[in-house]
Amino acid sequence: MDLKSKIRVIEGFPKEGISFKDITTVLQDKDAFRECIYQLAEAFRNEEVDMVVGPEARGFLIGAPLAYELGVGFVPVRKPGKLPAETISFEYELEYGTDTLEIHKDAIKPGQKVLVIDDLLATGGTVHSTVKMIEELGGEVVGIGFFIELEFLNGRKLLEDYNVKSLVKY
Ligand code: AMP
Repeated sequence: MDLKSKIRVIEGFPKEGISFKDITTVLQDKDAFRECIYQLAEAFRNEEVDMVVGPEARGFLIGAPLAYELGVGFVPVRKPGKLPAETISFEYELEYGTDTLEIHKDAIKPGQKVLVIDDLLATGGTVHSTVKMIEELGGEVVGIGFFIELEFLNGRKLLEDYNVKSLVKY
């Protein structure tokens, strides 16, 4: 199946100059949704994985069904103040200002093999921060998977030490 043809591209959202890749059209198509999760599972089938970690919000939509398909658990990474138990956090630079992400301190055990999943790789800042928190907790990042990769933004550079895979490239 041509998954790229199922992604809706909206120019100028949320602001001028951004070509927004809308995956809701993939999620609402039962065959495309299944194919997306299946292809990501295949990409990492040979890795030993104990846990999938996904950042909010679209990392949940891809990461949770992928964890289910792989038969492992899922851990959410969230914006500050959303997770109820004890957390660690990571602050990262944006074009203007900074952003912070959090993960539950007890969610990853030392030595666990972790697969990080998000819907889209742009600059890589979100997933890089997620990786740093997993490593701080003693987890080993064995793979990083995206449904979509915006190659011209060079996010892979930030993740060059890792096994990065994506299904659809722009
Ligand atoms: P980054 O941290 O720069 O790699 O940004 C990744 C996050 O921003 C992803 O989780 C996407 O959900 C979102 N994102 C960035 N650029 C786009 C885009 N052009 N279309 C849709 N989502 C985007």
